[in-house]
Amino acid sequence: MSAAGVEPKGLARKLEKLGLRSRFDLVLHLPLRYEDETQLFSPDSAPPGRPVSIEAKVARAEIAFRPRRQLVVHAEGVVLRFFNFYPSQLKQFQRAAEEGLRVRAFGEVRSGWFGAELAHPRYRLVRGGDPLPDALTPIYPTTAGLSQDKLRARVLDALDSGELEDSLPDSLRRRYSLAPFADSVRLLHRPAPGMDIASLVERRHPAWRRMKFDELLAQQLSMRFAYRARRERNAPRLPANGPLLQAFMKNLPFRLTRAQTRALNEMLRDLGQPHPMQRLLQGDVGSGKTIVAAIACLAAVDAGCQAVVMAPTEILSEQHYRKFGDWFGPLGVQIGWLHGGVPKKQRKEVLASQIVIGTHALIQERVEFSRLGLAVVDEQHRFGVQQRLTLRRRADESLPHQLMMSATPIPRTLAMTSHADLDVSVIDEMPPGRKVVATRLYSATRRRDVLARIREACAEGQQGYWVCPVIEESKDGDLQTALDTHKTLRRELATVRVGLVHGRMPGAEKAAAMQAFVRDEIQLLVCTTVIEVGVDVPNASLMVIESAERFGLAQLHQLRGRVGRGNRDSSCILLFGEPLSENARERLKIIYENSDGFEVARRDLDLRGPGEFIGERQSGDPLFRFADLRCDLDLILAAREAAENLIEKAPEVARSHVRRWLGSRQDLANA
Ligand code: ADP
Ligand code: MG
Repeated sequence: MSAAGVEPKGLARKLEKLGLRSRFDLVLHLPLRYEDETQLFSPDSAPPGRPVSIEAKVARAEIAFRPRRQLVVHAEGVVLRFFNFYPSQLKQFQRAAEEGLRVRAFGEVRSGWFGAELAHPRYRLVRGGDPLPDALTPIYPTTAGLSQDKLRARVLDALDSGELEDSLPDSLRRRYSLAPFADSVRLLHRPAPGMDIASLVERRHPAWRRMKFDELLAQQLSMRFAYRARRERNAPRLPANGPLLQAFMKNLPFRLTRAQTRALNEMLRDLGQPHPMQRLLQGDVGSGKTIVAAIACLAAVDAGCQAVVMAPTEILSEQHYRKFGDWFGPLGVQIGWLHGGVPKKQRKEVLASQIVIGTHALIQERVEFSRLGLAVVDEQHRFGVQQRLTLRRRADESLPHQLMMSATPIPRTLAMTSHADLDVSVIDEMPPGRKVVATRLYSATRRRDVLARIREACAEGQQGYWVCPVIEESKDGDLQTALDTHKTLRRELATVRVGLVHGRMPGAEKAAAMQAFVRDEIQLLVCTTVIEVGVDVPNASLMVIESAERFGLAQLHQLRGRVGRGNRDSSCILLFGEPLSENARERLKIIYENSDGFEVARRDLDLRGPGEFIGERQSGDPLFRFADLRCDLDLILAAREAAENLIEKAPEVARSHVRRWLGSRQDLANA
């Protein structure tokens, strides 16, 4: 039932702002912390350093003007001061003094001019002998104009409304030692006096464990339901032994690594099924995902279907276009590249190609594909969930197979939760001959040394990138920095052919600059983070990242992955400005010490927390309200196992658990 129906409009709107629509939402609105008003102190016996309840008889109240305007209430043994107050409060206290009432106030007692003092405490007027609260006072996350008292009353009301039946069967609760649901929420909203508050605030208490488990379980279940629902749809079978695929396999540009072969086989097995594949191909930067995806596209073409490859940047889409052309052109496969410069008249033709490559323009333009057999999403973490879903929905009666690729290695806990609706193949091996990129840290004061190194390297025929910093406040800031740096470097490095590429360049210029770099006409490419993902120029062996302290870890790792692709020794120089913040120092240390993307990702998760980690690009919402992917691995494993069992043995229980927890949010998962 909706809480909104019975609330005055303003209150409902404020609750809505907190995401509180139903009674159950209120039940799940758990306190941030607690205050202990269950014990009463006299002003002179109040322990220092923490807020407590005191009670004293009101003597008089007045407005004072020094040091600034304030309401001063003198009570027995204590003075209360209010800096923001209503005129009615003065009257209220004056009347209380006349009637001999007492004030019960909650706050930290300090010693001031007149002895014990409380500054703007929470208070109530009482007659004396009023009962004390029998539970700790919960403090909730709230929003402007919604007082703790009001919110608390709503929550307690919802708690008493009796919709707290357990959504999990006893057997499951016993198996994972879970506290009953109703007890858990009651305890969290109204903990008894003397409870270990730390175990609540730090979310270690069994009651918290139960909340986290339920949340994780709901998420696992909903993703699994979504997976199953899609799995029941039809998809064209794409053969693993069609003529094009076979011809290409006989003539591969290089020998696939064992990991590539394994991933390829897992994928081809899925593609041969009459149901849509939903697979994530994960592998560190440079591990060779592209060719695996390309082969999958051939399987689609062999079946008489179209394949679509979506990349997050135009530069990357062009690079794919060229690569696919090199590989499949000789086989007579038509490959289309949809980019900003394609005239309207030619779009239709491009979109009718057997393999169509492009950016998210592919989904923005309501493009209709005939017989879409396979949709490949490269660098999937750069796309929003919605965008991925759109591509998934594009086909009418049957769904295309889906292959997503990601080089952002994510820690296991995150993979188990955010990818629970996908099958995953991992390429955990680099192509032969790869060398570790040597990472060096240079203070910006040593810029001259760096320039000398570049001159030397370029004289030897090497190529490099000079990456300009991300300026968070403004996108144009990035651009300006890149333009300025380009100018300066051209002057400083007179012997070097310096080029420029940035995101605001017209597509054709961008492409021209990249091609010039590929052809070695540009030796040093000044760039913004447009080259962050996917760009593959094997001859580039040197990278300088300016103001590296401004970059995130994942970004640094991705950027560094642009070098070390050929057979030369490569290096990545991180120029940093001083002073460094604690956090920046830690990030630079991590990237300096680790070359393995998974390790970088794990440390990144520790440093930033999962919400930021998958970032708004992915969901816009933090993944979990209660569970913490950094420390709840045991619960994630339990929830995963339980989800599996429930769906098999008690699908109705599973559905009602998901309904309870996700309510309307479920739609997204089931789309
Ligand atoms: P990523 O996984 O980051 O997308 P790419 O697919 O761009 O990596 O591959 C990186 C580079 O390695 C490319 O130049 C590609 O041609 C090359 N490559 C991929 N697989 C192999 C292999 N098995 N042997 C040699 N080179 C390979
Ligand atoms: Mg790639």
